[in-house]
Amino acid sequence: MNMLVCVKQVPDTTEIKIDPVKNTLIRDGVPSILNPFDGYALEAAARIKDKNPDSKIVVLSMGPMQAQAVLKESLAIAADKAYLVSGRTFGGSDTLATSYIISQAIKEVEKTEGKFDIIFCGKQAIDGDTAQVGPEIAEHLGYPQVTYSLEAELDGDLVKVKKETEEGAEIIGIQTPCVLTFTKPSWDPRYPTMKRKLAANRADIPVISDTDLFDIDTTRIGLKGSPTKVKKTFVPQKKTGGMMVAEETTEDSARKLFQLLNDANII
Ligand code: FAD
Repeated sequence: MNMLVCVKQVPDTTEIKIDPVKNTLIRDGVPSILNPFDGYALEAAARIKDKNPDSKIVVLSMGPMQAQAVLKESLAIAADKAYLVSGRTFGGSDTLATSYIISQAIKEVEKTEGKFDIIFCGKQAIDGDTAQVGPEIAEHLGYPQVTYSLEAELDGDLVKVKKETEEGAEIIGIQTPCVLTFTKPSWDPRYPTMKRKLAANRADIPVISDTDLFDIDTTRIGLKGSPTKVKKTFVPQKKTGGMMVAEETTEDSARKLFQLLNDANII
């Protein structure tokens, strides 16, 4: 199996602070991490490789040069090869433009690595949180997709995917090439070994820049190629005037809350 995992570098959201004047994220001094859902996707690919050792795992990230850190982390965990997609004209891209650039970059990487059978993504990035990029990559490439994937294994000509549903889970057989987006499974991703860490630190990570993607439609990238327009960003005002219902017992609190809501004609 030839597998590609899309990984994004994201700020550690437990540390995020907003500039109260500019209403922008304060990124200075905020540590960056591998998007956790991409870690699950990488682990799912690694589990397929465990059972099919002649498989290959390539990781790809679009972002600034600093994003090499998550590529090296992915190499240390399980990936065999890493590519960074980085270019000045890519800046300002919304999800549609980002997924278009990534799909074009995948075609470029395939010239060296061969055609990918499975493209793995996280369900969503914990900073952008749109969950659009994976499904959009599938659409750009014309591939079938399974979202909310929990596990994947090979089953003859198909990939057997366990998909989370509202009621529980279902098993879907999907033909390759395909795109799978991963949500949080019941298992934890593996840790990098010291040997792999040392090799990852020495790894050469090729950069695919805007000038390498000859066939890209430049009207579909960057701010100009992005149909999403951000009209306003703001920090929600903290609501004041709330009251605490804390009676002797939980039952009394529930009764009191019901009474208050009833009196206010809310229920
Ligand atoms: P999701 O759709 O939630 O991610 C799902 C999965 O897709 C991830 O788990 C991962 O597997 C994959 N994925 C997502 N992004 C990447 C990536 N970059 N590389 C590899 N895999 C990925 N962001 C900037 O950094 N600079 C900008 O200048 C910028 N300008 C923007 C302008 C506009 C108008 C808008 C709307 C957004 C802009 N963004 C910019 C944000 C950028 O569009 C998103 O970060 C990006 O499209 C990913 O979306 P998401 O975070 O919601 O990912």
